[in-house]
Amino acid sequence: MFISKNLGVNELGNLTIGGVDASLLAKEYGTPLYVMDEALFRDNCRRYKRAMELDYGRKGIVCYASKAFCCKEVFKILKEEGLWADVASGGELYTAVSAGFPMGKIVFHGCCKTADELTMALKNKVGRIVVDNFSELSALSEIAVEMDVSADIMLRIKPCVEVHTHELVQTGNIDSKFGFAAQTGEALEAVRLALLLRNINLKGFHCHIGSQILDTDSFVKAAEAMLLFISEVKEQLSFEAGELNLGGGFGIKYTEEDKAPEYELYINDVSARIKKLCADKGLSLPLIMIEPGRSIPAHSGITLYTAGEVKVIPEVRTYVMVDGGLTDNPRYSMYKAKYEFIAVNKASEPKSEIVSIAGKCCEKDPLGEGVKLQPVESGDIIAVLATGAFNYSMSSNYNRFPRPPVVMVRNGKARIIVKGETYEDMIRNDL
Ligand SMILES: *Cc1c(COP(=O)(O)O)cnc(C)c1O
Repeated sequence: MFISKNLGVNELGNLTIGGVDASLLAKEYGTPLYVMDEALFRDNCRRYKRAMELDYGRKGIVCYASKAFCCKEVFKILKEEGLWADVASGGELYTAVSAGFPMGKIVFHGCCKTADELTMALKNKVGRIVVDNFSELSALSEIAVEMDVSADIMLRIKPCVEVHTHELVQTGNIDSKFGFAAQTGEALEAVRLALLLRNINLKGFHCHIGSQILDTDSFVKAAEAMLLFISEVKEQLSFEAGELNLGGGFGIKYTEEDKAPEYELYINDVSARIKKLCADKGLSLPLIMIEPGRSIPAHSGITLYTAGEVKVIPEVRTYVMVDGGLTDNPRYSMYKAKYEFIAVNKASEPKSEIVSIAGKCCEKDPLGEGVKLQPVESGDIIAVLATGAFNYSMSSNYNRFPRPPVVMVRNGKARIIVKGETYEDMIRNDL
């Protein structure tokens, strides 16, 4: 009935998440409110892990891209589930450190890492640093020499394949700011340098072609391009990469219209091609990593808002105002990203209205336009579905709105995993 299988409707006709009545959560914790379902989050971790194990045995690693949803509790869960984790900033790394996450399972990304971030990564002995560019490669070598440690690195490669997704989240084409281009000889030059530089231990290569990709073909093509690159490097420089990180980008179903293949399918299609190419080219199967971000937490999460005025502009549109906005979900403003909306206390009624959901920021900040919704009135609770990824993590304090709390539900009970901000927090750093 819903796009997320963890949602339901109880005997009162209210929306439930992980078996908990969403209207009770709104009452107890206030709105706006982020709600995450722990069971589905863990289930997604396990599905990825199982699929990788089935195809690659011990040579398959799942590395959660933490930018999708990052807080200490998530790192604790990942640790229990045995996943690795990506971080892309000192702040994300600090969060992982604070949560006691094993540093050997951290992959450190970023296209403009600072000397401080590189030092922090080496001090904490992160598992891999994914080097994006020549300046970073030289800087890392110098810092590692100074610290008398060795840096285990991967090089980020642009495999230069076409992908079908929003242009703001395409990251593997020649025009991308990320990584070394395979097709121009730049990447080969980077390998040559990495093999020469002191205190640099080149483990292999990484690519990430984009986000919210809904076809398996793009991933197969990227894997193919990377295998050909590995083979070229072996021929030219006698270096055979032991590791290949294929990035993330697995798309999810945001609305009824989206068609998202099951994760297992991506993994199977890609592994079949990798194994065939390894055999054809005489390569041993490298350690394969994947980095799903969005697809692990997205469906775990919903956001709850309270409706304010329902403003009818005759023959133009109807606005349903809510007590949040682009501060807690900037994705419609950034990408025109579509979501499903449900009136929590009317969840079993048909969605007979077409409305725009207006945020409360001093912008035209819709959370959706032309969306289907049950007839609502001021005071009703509205849920936005599949907001577990890139909502909390992209939230801001624009208009000095305090960020909402994040509540996690498990076995019918809720607990706060990130406290809501207060007005005092809004002036914490003001002098
Ligand atoms: C964002 C990102 C991911 C995860 O992408 P999703 O679309 O969230 O799956 C993986 N790897 C890298 C390097 C990223 O930047």
